[in-house]
Amino acid sequence: MVKFGGTSIGDGERIKKAAQSVINEYMKGNKVVVVVSAINKTTDDLVKIIETSVGDSISNKQMAEILSVGEMTSVRIFSATIESLGVKSIYIDPYNENWPILTDNNFVDAHIDIEESIKQSDKLNNIIEQGIIPVISGFLGKSKNGHITTLGRGGSDTTAFFLANILNANQIIIVTDVSGVMTSDPNQIKDVEKLDKISVEEMMDLAISGAKVLHPNALKYKNHLLSAKIIGYESGNLSENGTIITGPVEGDMLSYSTLYPDPITLLSVVGANIIKNVGLLAELAVILAKSNINIFGVSTGQNSITLFVSKKDAFDAHSILHEAIIKNNTLNSLSVGKKIAMLTFVSPGFIETPGIISDITEPLRKNEINIIEISSSQTAITVFVDWNDGEKAYKLIKEVLE
Ligand code: ADP
Ligand code: ASP
Ligand code: MG
Repeated sequence: MVKFGGTSIGDGERIKKAAQSVINEYMKGNKVVVVVSAINKTTDDLVKIIETSVGDSISNKQMAEILSVGEMTSVRIFSATIESLGVKSIYIDPYNENWPILTDNNFVDAHIDIEESIKQSDKLNNIIEQGIIPVISGFLGKSKNGHITTLGRGGSDTTAFFLANILNANQIIIVTDVSGVMTSDPNQIKDVEKLDKISVEEMMDLAISGAKVLHPNALKYKNHLLSAKIIGYESGNLSENGTIITGPVEGDMLSYSTLYPDPITLLSVVGANIIKNVGLLAELAVILAKSNINIFGVSTGQNSITLFVSKKDAFDAHSILHEAIIKNNTLNSLSVGKKIAMLTFVSPGFIETPGIISDITEPLRKNEINIIEISSSQTAITVFVDWNDGEKAYKLIKEVLE
């Protein structure tokens, strides 16, 4: 599976080079499926034109239909280029009978209907088996009612990873305008360095926090059997190393849940306007680190900082932090809480599940389990409850998530 981003097919020369690189792989005896984005900044340009011409009255249905033109054009040109170089190819867009990505009715931010799409994948397999190179529109979907949908900006990464997963591809290559994943965005910081590899978990965090280089939804479909890399378009060589995305270590998807086996406890440091005390959190963390005490979580309020540490470290942590409080005159007192259980739930699916926190907390409320603390990022939720409620809460939440 090879996906070409907009810049990598930014003009005629680049499209020819990209098509040739696909053919070179094909000639080695590999079966290749191509996913393409819209040429260059077509999607941005269309969005700007719509903003000025139609303005706010544009409907989501109209928006999806108009933006789809970008990926409908690029597949036709890319496929024709492959044919011009002497290899059979067909383009597949949502109007084609072999179209493989079916979605819900959300026009601009559609979710893939995995089961319905898998049912379609035989058609694509037939084409590949015949030695034809399919060129598929990235970013687009088709709803049950036959309408065009889009998977959200940057969504052709999702198209490629999803198809690689359901077609059981060995490898996915993302061709983009940078030579791989860098230590930071090369368009914002100079002297960045390329990473030879990155774990899918780290890549997920990077993507969620805004690194455009890969769409976070795409990584949901990275399983441990699929090797993945991100390379630059300039060399025109798909064998380039780029950055390899490794993992996930276990299982097929990036979802897991754990009930931490040991009890945790809370240490609260209290002081007036603690939140404005620059560097205090670092100071407390360093003091604990010197005694090799790990911090599992932190929550801050206007007048308090609460640190979550293992119950077995609580005694040491308490006395070490107490010394710090005596020395620091903005801090007033310290308290140690009871034994608590830490439950962690991780799933990339949380990003697109509105109300996931209330889904998780509702069964706890019904069973009168009190939540001591809850913290969440886009893909992970950590819940702290009384130690004695730990197992029950874990079971209840797992049931909801399943
Ligand atoms: P494509 O059109 O090929 O999908 P994108 O523009 O969506 O390309 O993604 C590539 C861009 O991601 C790069 O041009 C770069 O500005 C940005 N980017 C952000 N963070 C990183 C990073 N850590 N490493 C590499 N690129 C990054
Ligand atoms: N062309 C679409 C966009 O610009 C999808 C993509 O490039 O991944 O958002
Ligand atoms: Mg992109």
